[in-house]
Amino acid sequence: MQVLKFGGSSVANADNINKVVELVRQALTKDRTILVVSALGGVTDLLIQAGLAAAAGEEGYKEKLQDIERRHLDTVKALLPVTRQSSTLSLVKTRCNEIEDICSGVFLLGELSARTQDKIVSYGELLSSIIVAARFQSLEIPHQWKDSRELIRTDSRFGHAAVDFTQTNQQIFDYIKGAAASSLFVLPGFIAADSKGITTTLGRGGSDYTAAILAAAVDAKVLEIWTDVSGMMTADPRLVTNVKLIPHISYQEAMELSHFGAKVIYPPTIQPVMTKNIPVWVKNTFSPTDPGTVIEREAPHNGSSIRGISSIAKIALLSLEGSGMVGIPGFSKRLFEALSAQQINVILITQGSSEHSICVGVDQANADAAKQAVDNAFSPEISAGTVDPLIIETGLSIIALVGEHMKSHPGVSGKMFGALGRNGVNVRAIAQGSSERNISAVIATDDVKKAINVLHEEFFETSYRQLNLFITGTGNVGRRLIDQLQQQQAFLQQQLRIQVRVIGLANSRRMVFSNNGIDLSRWQETLENGSPMQMDQWISGITSLNLRNSVFADVTANEEVASCYGAFLQKSISVVACNKIACSSPYGNYRQLKDLAREYNARFLFETNVGAGLPVIGTLNDLLRSGDKVHRIEAVLSGTLNFVFNNYTGERPFSQVVRQAQAEGYTEPDPRLDLSGTDVMRKIMILARESGEKTEMEDITNSSFLPASCMQGSVEDFYETMLTEEDHFKQLYQAAAKEGKKLKFVARYDNGKASVGLQHIGPEHNLYHLYGKDNVVLFYTDRYSEQPLVVKGAGAGAEVTASGVFADILRIINS
Ligand code: ADP
Ligand code: ASP
Ligand code: MG
Repeated sequence: MQVLKFGGSSVANADNINKVVELVRQALTKDRTILVVSALGGVTDLLIQAGLAAAAGEEGYKEKLQDIERRHLDTVKALLPVTRQSSTLSLVKTRCNEIEDICSGVFLLGELSARTQDKIVSYGELLSSIIVAARFQSLEIPHQWKDSRELIRTDSRFGHAAVDFTQTNQQIFDYIKGAAASSLFVLPGFIAADSKGITTTLGRGGSDYTAAILAAAVDAKVLEIWTDVSGMMTADPRLVTNVKLIPHISYQEAMELSHFGAKVIYPPTIQPVMTKNIPVWVKNTFSPTDPGTVIEREAPHNGSSIRGISSIAKIALLSLEGSGMVGIPGFSKRLFEALSAQQINVILITQGSSEHSICVGVDQANADAAKQAVDNAFSPEISAGTVDPLIIETGLSIIALVGEHMKSHPGVSGKMFGALGRNGVNVRAIAQGSSERNISAVIATDDVKKAINVLHEEFFETSYRQLNLFITGTGNVGRRLIDQLQQQQAFLQQQLRIQVRVIGLANSRRMVFSNNGIDLSRWQETLENGSPMQMDQWISGITSLNLRNSVFADVTANEEVASCYGAFLQKSISVVACNKIACSSPYGNYRQLKDLAREYNARFLFETNVGAGLPVIGTLNDLLRSGDKVHRIEAVLSGTLNFVFNNYTGERPFSQVVRQAQAEGYTEPDPRLDLSGTDVMRKIMILARESGEKTEMEDITNSSFLPASCMQGSVEDFYETMLTEEDHFKQLYQAAAKEGKKLKFVARYDNGKASVGLQHIGPEHNLYHLYGKDNVVLFYTDRYSEQPLVVKGAGAGAEVTASGVFADILRIINS
């Protein structure tokens, strides 16, 4: 004998029922078969809604019932040949009239008891099983339809009845024995009856359980659970896109996973089959050749310490606290007694060793009842002030890692909480059973999707990790960055196993979000079709998406954008900036951003603030972290100024050379920031700050070479004024040339003091051979005391800056 159970989606319509019939037909070639079916997908929910509407006095319940009736009648018409429809149609109609009668009683009374609700929902499985049996009839496949209520005996806990196995097993045994000639039995799942024959149900999702009860009672060779997924997956496929099949899983693990929310199997299902050591196959009706999952006594090790991840929503955390609890036995007993008297199921328990508080997780629906019961039970202590009234927190969920092999693998919980912490998921309570088969954590429901994805990536992702990027700015650097991301996508995925998705993109005019990642080959069009840029919506859009491994990239030079980093870091969203404004703002702000990054486990990286793509800040950080001490930094930090002084010989006007620098994309959007030395001041200040100095802009000496007249008016005025000042620039050039030297705008940081200014540099100097728009930084340190450590190369340009931003982004996922 074998038992096959088909879920709601497998019997949702005539097409699907035909698939089921075909699978059963094949199964019959192997063995006698008991077929258990659920209600047509969604019908149980509809029945419950109809009952509730009737109880609430809403006439609309009738419409719901009509929908239900129509759906079943349509299924019969599509499934059966016309000549064979009439008896089934009238059976369906009769049943639907019965539901109508019950609901009109509920409507008149204005009350829906659990008993009546069970009666109403039982019609879902009755109807589906009648229709499926009729299909066998029409195909002349011999079978027996049997009402499960005559076989499965339960107590009278309506909605969630407990099975009386002695009676049930006997009834099933007798029935099957008496039907020795039959090889196919069709039964409704989910429904049962108490000792008085009153209809009960086995709990939502209970058809799996019906099948398991039958399988155990008849000592079936196998129980097959046919559903709409190809087996048990490493996580809920609705939450994680990249789930993997669990080919083998032990009974214990399957039980833990399903208890903690893996809805694919109703939790009590495992118990009866485990006792009889009957293997359970979870298979996909819509892809029947897929291997599926085998649930068995001992499942082979899969190479990972955990087997799956699941979650339960709508959890309330109850905390009982108070000084009166310490060292006095019996407090927890009283707490659990109070809860159990109200039939409140405790899902998770934690107690700190201080014994100052006990924390339990329960279904949120029970929170109010729990509060009343517990406060009542502890009322003397609460009045005496030794115990506080029960604290209730809602909006929570439990996430759980499940696996037999956690026992032998130290560090699983470290890895779990590390990964959650890095992504800003706050853990409210933790429980690990001594079986070490499960580690559970209570977190905010809003964080569940992110948390499950983070953990899935941490424990199962062998193909790639996902980085979710939000780019602000599509100017020179921004568009190069997008090009580079697009060009490197395949390489990153194949070689580094990183998938970078641009989830949000914005410039000063428009912004756009795409949950699955923007197609970078047509980002312009996508952005044009986005909504108008609104900074507050851009920020809240990014934070509320709450995605794991989120990075905000600022490739603007905009002050408003720079002012929002704190909001991201506080949500554990890392920030990569080529925008220098934040790091060169008042020291307190720079410090606060760094502290926020540390506090919320995010990264704040800005390598391109100095020397574009050159590894200047990274090198400095490496030196300091490894214990070196920086005494002096000498540097040419302006690609623009170096380009200008390398190309200016007094022949072409200075103004024209500056224009060329801007045209080639080396300058800041306002070139005066470069020419005045302000940009260089910002850079040397950032290096000083990174070296541990609390410097501000006003602490830096700037001997500017630019006449004050040039700083007035617009950028265009600036170019014009420079023309009138041409003699001044010529003189500067000639003074240096006369000595056989070059003009270099040099930044210096010397034992705590920073300065910038134009200097004459001779050929013997390290800064002399510096061409084009190159930058150079010389670090004089304890370890590099005679010859400096030199970082040199192109220090401006959109392409290299974009690649520096790109490198920072990748640094985050690799950290
Ligand atoms: P049925 O109606 O066939 O009983 P259910 O809806 O009860 O089907 O269960 C199947 C669903 O369980 C899948 O569609 C899937 O969305 C969900 N599910 C949740 N967790 C898991 C998991 N770990 N593996 C597979 N499916 C899961
Ligand atoms: N139809 C019932 C429900 O939706 C039982 C089941 O499908 O397993 O809960
Ligand atoms: Mg189910």
